[in-house]
Amino acid sequence: QHFSVVVVGAGPAGLTVGNILRAAGVDCLVLEAGTRDFIERRPRAGVIEERAVRGLERRGLARNLLERAQAHTECEFRFDGERYRFEYTRLTGSHHFVYPQQFLVTDLVREYADVRGGEIRFGVRDVRLHGLESGRPSVSYVCPDSGERRVVEAGFVAGCDGARGVSRAALPPGRVRVARHDYGVGWLALLAEAPPSADCVVFGMHPRGFAGHMARSSEVTRYYLQCPPGDDPGNWPHERVWAELRERLGAVGAPPLEEGRLLERRVLEMHSHVVEPMAFGRLFLAGDAAHLTAPIAAKGMNLALYDAFLLGDGLVAQLTQGDGTGLSGYSATCLAQVWDYQEFSEWLGEMYHGTASGDPYRAGAALARLRRLFGSPLAAAAFAEQYLGTRTTG
Ligand code: FAD
Repeated sequence: QHFSVVVVGAGPAGLTVGNILRAAGVDCLVLEAGTRDFIERRPRAGVIEERAVRGLERRGLARNLLERAQAHTECEFRFDGERYRFEYTRLTGSHHFVYPQQFLVTDLVREYADVRGGEIRFGVRDVRLHGLESGRPSVSYVCPDSGERRVVEAGFVAGCDGARGVSRAALPPGRVRVARHDYGVGWLALLAEAPPSADCVVFGMHPRGFAGHMARSSEVTRYYLQCPPGDDPGNWPHERVWAELRERLGAVGAPPLEEGRLLERRVLEMHSHVVEPMAFGRLFLAGDAAHLTAPIAAKGMNLALYDAFLLGDGLVAQLTQGDGTGLSGYSATCLAQVWDYQEFSEWLGEMYHGTASGDPYRAGAALARLRRLFGSPLAAAAFAEQYLGTRTTG
């Protein structure tokens, strides 16, 4: 069997690439390790930049999102019992959309497989990439039912299999550079079966550690609590979680937290990495497969979508018009934005974590960052531009 493009991974990146290819009539195959049910239910991101939403809309992929997502125009910082409201839409004219990642993945997989007639195989095991430097690469995998290894030939391979996938490992070590950053903290990621406790995203900077509040829907809210790296979620029973959230997010005039059952409780290692370049021979990486961004500034899924737009459009131009300019500039264009978002995440991370670092120098500097946002219109405008992702780079 031969496909013009084989896409490994059916996350936001892979499904967006697949949809763009199908819209242009390009034949492609998506290979996914999980089941359809698993990918349609896995909760992760929720905050999507307006520019990413417009990119999806232009490609006919945002109908449900535009009907159902909430638009956010402000966020709130809490520090020392005070609330600092930051009106980013007033500064940029742009807003954030809140739409759970699993809803977007569900929309994308339906559009790809059920509407645009794209082929997708779920539950594949042990995916391997072959002959990437030759003109005829191939991808092999083990079928979930028969246990047999199948081989498909591919004109191009899109490696969209996330941070733990196999595509990245196919890049020869001597030809890539992996840059890593460790924030030195953990985040306990929580999903509570409870309505949001504020009308916007809330960031709590507290001597006991950072705490975050992010609406997901009218029934479910995501919370974060900074914790030691490698902490055991078992150390965080229900009562401790809510007591700590109340303490760290407490502020004068703040509505009380709406408590609820914890649906998810896991410790995220807060680290980031970037793989350069994002292409090798006929393999192109997109999304978390190429760059992991700790969820400090809610950038990971947005970057995955921006990569996918460029890669999808570049593959279509190559395969339908023989125009290779998009693909040849793909890695450099993506990386300019990836580094911009990495740097912003690091800047914001220091503001979140400095207060609890135990180092009075870092704590003082973190407070200076917060004061500058609320004391300098120029600093506020620059922050809003980065937080909203309104500037295109590269
Ligand atoms: P993934 O979503 O990881 O998709 C990769 C797919 O490949 C998966 O379906 C996987 O099953 C499949 N796969 C893996 N290995 C193989 C293999 N060997 N063979 C075949 N298939 C394979 N980002 C934001 O922008 N905003 C947020 O608010 C935000 N919040 C987050 C909160 C949390 C708790 C977490 C963990 C992340 C958050 N992110 C956020 C980051 C975001 O979820 C990721 O950046 C995004 O999922 C990346 O999409 P992707 O398509 O590149 O990879």
